[in-house]
Amino acid sequence: MGLNRRDFLKAAAGGGLALASNLSPAPVLARATVTRLPDALGILYDATLCIGCKACMAACKKFNNLPPDLCTPNSLWDDPVDLSAKTVNIVKLYKNGTGLAKDQEINGYSFVRRFCMHCVDPSCVSACPVSALTKDPKTGVVHYNKDNCIGCRYCQVACPYLIPKFQWDQAFPQIVKCQLCDHRIAQGSYSACCEFCPTGASIFGNVQDLRKEARRRLSLKPGTFAEYPLQRVDSHHKVSRQVTPYLNHVYGETEGGGAQVLMLANVPFNKLGLPQLPPTSQASHAETLYHTLYKGMIVPYVVLGGLFYIIYKNTTGHELP
Ligand code: SF4
Ligand code: SF4
Ligand code: SF4
Repeated sequence: MGLNRRDFLKAAAGGGLALASNLSPAPVLARATVTRLPDALGILYDATLCIGCKACMAACKKFNNLPPDLCTPNSLWDDPVDLSAKTVNIVKLYKNGTGLAKDQEINGYSFVRRFCMHCVDPSCVSACPVSALTKDPKTGVVHYNKDNCIGCRYCQVACPYLIPKFQWDQAFPQIVKCQLCDHRIAQGSYSACCEFCPTGASIFGNVQDLRKEARRRLSLKPGTFAEYPLQRVDSHHKVSRQVTPYLNHVYGETEGGGAQVLMLANVPFNKLGLPQLPPTSQASHAETLYHTLYKGMIVPYVVLGGLFYIIYKNTTGHELP
């Protein structure tokens, strides 16, 4: 027996409502928390060692073929004020009161680097509908593939650190963000920002080693002298310097489910412009919500039924018979 138009509309609207009324109050289980990969690569940035020289910014531009970002009128050189499609790594300044004491929240100042955190469970990857952003299964580096990108910019909305930028001035725009210098890693090298940092404020390495190094620094006694590796966490090149106080917090260890970029500072991270995030990732919340809504295709069916009903009512001026 065939289904006529009236029966179909009634079934769609009625079926959707019936399913909606039978929606189970039991939520779908939250998707499993993603944990750090054993060979994850990342960067430890220590604001107390940073002198704001911006060598990391210059190296980042050079080795990633990024153009200068001329932000002030008649500027003669690269002077970005924030991350942009031309700048994927920036050193910013926090200043308070007299701004005289380094690494002090009150009447002091601190530098802070901003670039992609290479999240353990990245929201940008979760939000991208076409897998233009992917997480490397070995290194955990979050890659961007321009050939897959459709320019929807969901990644920009999803990222809690506001990292992905869009090339608004290009005919065929792409998303731009730090990719941990993956082209250099593929050649056996490492992140340019760490290679050119003269103080050891930015060091590259296995994230487990970087976490141990961060914890070691937090255990040092302020005022004593200690050695700090240059460029890479396993480097034999070290600098000796007097230990300054740290906040007892490794930013990125747990924030948003954790990151492969870790940070140390003595000024609260929210004052440095870093978001306060819960220890679970946004991606896991969002995917649990999608899976709950789409469980058994209930919500799409309800929406479809509702749409048929509204169209029928608007086009005929009648309620469904
Ligand atoms: S910081 Fe943003 S862009 Fe980078 S991996 Fe995390 S969610 Fe993606
Ligand atoms: S890892 Fe490479 S792309 Fe990322 S901030 Fe450092 S130099 Fe720039
Ligand atoms: S190169 Fe090192 S010391 Fe200089 S601004 Fe960058 S992180 Fe700081």
